[in-house]
Amino acid sequence: MRYTAPPYMYDVLPYPSAKEPWLTTARWRAIERHFREMVMRAGYREIRTPILEPTELFKRSIGEATDIVSKEMFTFVDRGDRSLTMKPEGTAPAVRACIEHNLFTEHPLLKLYYIGQNFRYERGQKGRYRQHQQLGVEVFGATDAAVDAEVLALAMSFFTSLGVSCRLHINSVGTTDCRTRYREALKAYVEPSLANLSDEGQMRFKVNPLRMLDTKDQRDLAILAGAPALREFLSEESSLHFQQLQDYLTAIAIPFRIDDGLVRGFDYYSGTVFEIKGEGLGAQDALGGGGRYDGLVEECGGAAVAGLGFGIGMERCLLALEALGIAPNQEDEAPVAFIITAGSQQEVKTAAVKLLYSLRTAGIAADMDYQGKNFRRQFKRADDVGTRFYIIIGEDEAAKGTVQLKDRSSGEQREFDAESVAEALRTGRL
Ligand code: AMP
Repeated sequence: MRYTAPPYMYDVLPYPSAKEPWLTTARWRAIERHFREMVMRAGYREIRTPILEPTELFKRSIGEATDIVSKEMFTFVDRGDRSLTMKPEGTAPAVRACIEHNLFTEHPLLKLYYIGQNFRYERGQKGRYRQHQQLGVEVFGATDAAVDAEVLALAMSFFTSLGVSCRLHINSVGTTDCRTRYREALKAYVEPSLANLSDEGQMRFKVNPLRMLDTKDQRDLAILAGAPALREFLSEESSLHFQQLQDYLTAIAIPFRIDDGLVRGFDYYSGTVFEIKGEGLGAQDALGGGGRYDGLVEECGGAAVAGLGFGIGMERCLLALEALGIAPNQEDEAPVAFIITAGSQQEVKTAAVKLLYSLRTAGIAADMDYQGKNFRRQFKRADDVGTRFYIIIGEDEAAKGTVQLKDRSSGEQREFDAESVAEALRTGRL
């Protein structure tokens, strides 16, 4: 029996695989670090929530008629008869946690970030998986359009500072009232051509009309091309807020385009919505997205607290970097020193093992070979892992308590007391 990862789930490996060379843990961590540093500079604090949440939380927040809730959730009944769901997104769990721990009361303006795994039973393809990771932020307690600008600017500068050029699409979906009026107008417009709409489009017409706009079907797009825009149905307040956001974005020189077709896959959005699209990524070009969800906290049983946030797709980000040939700034995983033993004497091996642990205790990345390879092959292994220095111990050195320290790039070599080699490695000079 040969087991494989579940469909459309993947392994992140320490070495580039033939199939997905862009998916390595070093790249993954580089992106996480980049994100963490950026949001922490902007005053965001980390929240981590469980993988599982009560199913009801997602039904209520994301909405029963959405694709995610109606057909994509990994839901099961636990041994205590509770219906639990593996989180398909990070916002509702963050809201649940903040209500549960009274954070909204204690911190009237709350800025959070998270890095978490999401699970959706999607039709998989490149860039679309059943388990994916999102890097996200949420801000609670402010309706000011300047905070919308902050969140959008963060998402954009995340990509631009990585060297990924992308486009910011924005729209406003207004208040519940605006959407109710718009839904009617949109349905009235589409109704005469309903029979010509794709099956998916017809289904959306019935259960979630706004989602008709979120289609890639050319026929549907043609029918919808002349549809009224949601923007024309915005209340004065929503329009003003949207205009202010645009003014702030212009002031901080973030280019954007207004996209009347932009409605997102969750019911909880109100006001600003946005999406960041990358280039050269094919159909899965959405790198991240988000928006405002001013009613969500109340919907989840909390007070009336405004909120907004975004989620960036880790895999999409790695794919974008790969497409552009950009390697993120990865940590050096090579050891500083690799110990090589000459001969088969036990004293030599013991001296090597002792030195290895004293170096590691001194905080120096050090390694050695355990496969009993000959002298030459130990050097090869040291080269493979990219060591900076070789430490060579033979019978003479073991007897005297010394080692030969050799700089791999310059080839320079000197004898050191085993005791003092850590110091030499720390300064990096022979
Ligand atoms: P969403 O939570 O649907 O708003 O998605 C936010 C971002 O997460 C998207 O823009 C994508 O970059 C990424 N994303 C969403 N779903 C998937 C998926 N199934 N596989 C990979 N990335 C995804």
